[in-house]
Parts: sequence; structure tokens; C-alpha cells
Amino acid sequence: MTVDADWTIVVPVKQVPDADDVTIDPETGTLNRSDAPAVLNAPDYNAVEAALSLRERAGGEVVAVTMGPPFARAVLETAVALGADDAVLLTDRAFGGSDTWPTSLALARAADELDADVVVCGEESTDSSTGQVPPGIAAHNGWAQLTYAEELEPRPDDDELVAVRDVEGGHERVAAETPVVVAFEYGENEPRAAGLHRKIYAETEFEPEEWSAEDLGISEQVGLVNSPTKVGGMDTADPVEREQAVVDDVDALSDRITEVTADD
Ligand SMILES: Cc1cc2nc3c(=O)[nH]c(=O)nc-3n(C[C@H](O)[C@H](O)[C@H](O)COP(=O)(O)OP(=O)(O)OC[C@H]3O[C@@H](n4cnc5c(N)ncnc54)[C@H](O)[C@@H]3O)c2cc1C
Repeated sequence: MTVDADWTIVVPVKQVPDADDVTIDPETGTLNRSDAPAVLNAPDYNAVEAALSLRERAGGEVVAVTMGPPFARAVLETAVALGADDAVLLTDRAFGGSDTWPTSLALARAADELDADVVVCGEESTDSSTGQVPPGIAAHNGWAQLTYAEELEPRPDDDELVAVRDVEGGHERVAAETPVVVAFEYGENEPRAAGLHRKIYAETEFEPEEWSAEDLGISEQVGLVNSPTKVGGMDTADPVEREQAVVDDVDALSDRITEVTADD
């Protein structure tokens, strides 16, 4: 049943280097981001799907938001092709060097500006993987948060969102008042494919709105100087020697495991 709640559902989506092609600089130990093609962060497909599914059940609109350089608009086009109604690109030199604190501040201000009822994030990014941004958005705005969400049930009549959360040893069902920030678990739904017409619209006609740090009133609170994280150093691990063998059947596999573990 669709209740016309007119919820504004904001989906922060991140552009990341394609994990299949990314390499590590052996000198500095940092990622060679520019070597790999940039793609939509894989867990964010699950977040977009969760947001579209909420819209189908509660009514309203889905707005994708990304913070990044101008070419990050490509992930907004992906989100629009998948079904998002609108998108906003947060782009400004002032954002450069931001760690999770100013990143989540910018996304929080954007969600507030959009008058979000629900913010649905991915669980974590595939390049930095801190998982700090969704709770950061909630903290900056003083909103509720539902992390490790596997299922969402809208209750717009009560201004509530219910989530089934993955917790150690089982699941719990929690209701939170809107506005609320969700971190949706990776792989917990089946993201839909983008339709051809929608893809063409996203690539040829659609223009995202662009907001700067000044538009959000946070020019003095973002960037490297406002990032409390200090990276002390990075090391690369030596590859582990892995034995590979082809066996004919399960019995042969069992014999081989017995042999190898007896050697240890
Ligand atoms: C000192 C320092 C300097 C840095 N400088 C840069 C830099 O110059 N350029 C750079 O690209 N990175 C930089 N980073 C990395 C940057 O801080 C993180 O990529 C960013 O804060 C997001 O954190 P995360 O990837 O761990 O997100 P997570 O918390 O793992 O992501 C969870 C979810 O939050 C949402 N999300 C996260 N980031 C964004 C985003 N940007 N837009 C929309 N949604 C998002 C997505 O839904 C995502 O699935 C820097 C980090 C540090 C510590």
C-alpha cells in the first residue's frame, strides 16, 4: 500500500576507484586513485534500491547527493538512471582534503537544506571503508540513526521508520522518529537495473544542482585544516604464499587437507 507521505528521501552516493583496477603506490603505500576508472561505490547500489523501495511504499521523492570533484556527477547520473528523481553535486575546492568529519558535515547540511525525512547511506565505501559518514551525518544534525539496517518499513502516519538491524547473535527491530539516517547493509537487497529510457535521460538531459561550501554556509569548517584525522603512516603487507592444487573429488580434497594439516 502506498501512503502519500511526501517523504524526501536523500541518498548520499560516493564515487570510488573501481576496486578491480586499483593499484597501490609501492613508495608511498597510498592508493593510485587516478589509475582506476571511477564508479559508484558498490554498497550505494543497495542504498539507492532501499530508497526507491521506500518511495514506492511511502510516497515522496528520492534525491541523490554526492560530495566530490566536478566529474563525480557521473555517480549522480547513475543514481538518476536507477530511478532517483533529482540529484545535488556538492563540489568546491574548499572541500579538498576533507576527512570523514567535514564530509559528513557537508552531507548533513545538504540533507537539512533538502528538508530530508530519511537519509539512506551505504554501509561503507570500498576505498576508505570507515563507515563513519552515516553516523556523522546523524550527529551533525542531531538526528536519529539506524545502522546495519537489513530491512526498512515506513510508518509515515507516525513519522517513524522501522529497521530490522543486524546485531551480534541475531536481529532487532527498531523504530526511529524522522528525520533519521540509515546505513543500509551491503548486499541485503537486489538492486534493480537501470531502464534504457532512464539511462538516456540521465546522460543527455539531466543536470544536477551544484552547491558550494559557501552555499551550505560551511566554508570555514571543511577541507584539510578542519580534518581531525592524522594519518601516521602506511605499510603494504607482503603477499601471503598460497598453495593451489586441483583435486578430482571430495575424497581427494579431504585427503589433501589431512596431508597439509599433518605437515603443520
Ligand atoms: C586527512 C584526510 C584527507 C583526505 N583527503 C581526501 C581527498 O582529498 N579526496 C578524497 O576523495 N578523499 C579524501 N579523504 C578520504 C575521505 O575522508 C573519505 O573518503 C570520506 O570522508 C568518506 O569516508 P569513507 O569513504 O570512509 O565513507 P564511509 O563512512 O565508509 O561511507 C559510508 C557511506 O557514506 C556515504 N558517503 C561517504 N562519502 C561520501 C561522499 N563523498 N559523497 C556522498 N556520500 C558519501 C555513502 O553512502 C557511503 O556508502 C581524506 C581522508 C583523510 C583522513
